[in-house]
Amino acid sequence: YEKINILGIKFSKLTNQQLLQQLTLDLQQKQRRFIVTANPEIVLYARKHPEYASVLRKADLITADGIGIVIGSNLLKNPLPERVTGFDTLKKLLKIAENQQKSVYFLGAKTDVLKAALKNIQQEYPNLPIAGYHDGYFKSADSIAQTIQQQKPDIVLVALGFPKQENFIDQYSIGSHGIWMGVGGSFDVIAG
Ligand code: UDP
Repeated sequence: YEKINILGIKFSKLTNQQLLQQLTLDLQQKQRRFIVTANPEIVLYARKHPEYASVLRKADLITADGIGIVIGSNLLKNPLPERVTGFDTLKKLLKIAENQQKSVYFLGAKTDVLKAALKNIQQEYPNLPIAGYHDGYFKSADSIAQTIQQQKPDIVLVALGFPKQENFIDQYSIGSHGIWMGVGGSFDVIAG
């Protein structure tokens, strides 16, 4: 996909539908993917923190999680087609995973929040294969990462907020397959 530079972040020019087609293909081919759904806060943070910007440069796909970014891109000759949010992508990914029997690992949020979110997810996606889960307040990222890798999940949802989640994915997704995506406060929203 074509990349469009907005304030130093290279956004992929794709629609929600194109992203889901791509992720479906990646799941079938067991490709390792690092997906970022970047909101304006992430864009601004990356401008102030070059080390975070360099982590984002390693992402396979960055989407515009904010209408402001899409509107901003309209000032360019080559605008982004639409907003592609982390939350929408997460929900559609769960549906695809349930349909295709791909497993999902859930990392992040407080224990109670995570449990409540998982309960709602199991209700909405009863046949979803859950590879495992852990709250986001762990002592050793190394050992959590090892546990995740042992499960060989097809999808790893990392809800640690930025920049932690992208740093975690950058450091620990290497050498594994699966779609790794930072999902910010999504588990809190799903928990209700
Ligand atoms: N979080 C976590 N571990 C941490 C810090 C944050 O699991 O060390 C979780 C927090 O409980 C919340 C999410 O990460 O579920 C962050 O949500 P927030 O809305 O702050 O993130 P954003 O969407 O702004 O990236």
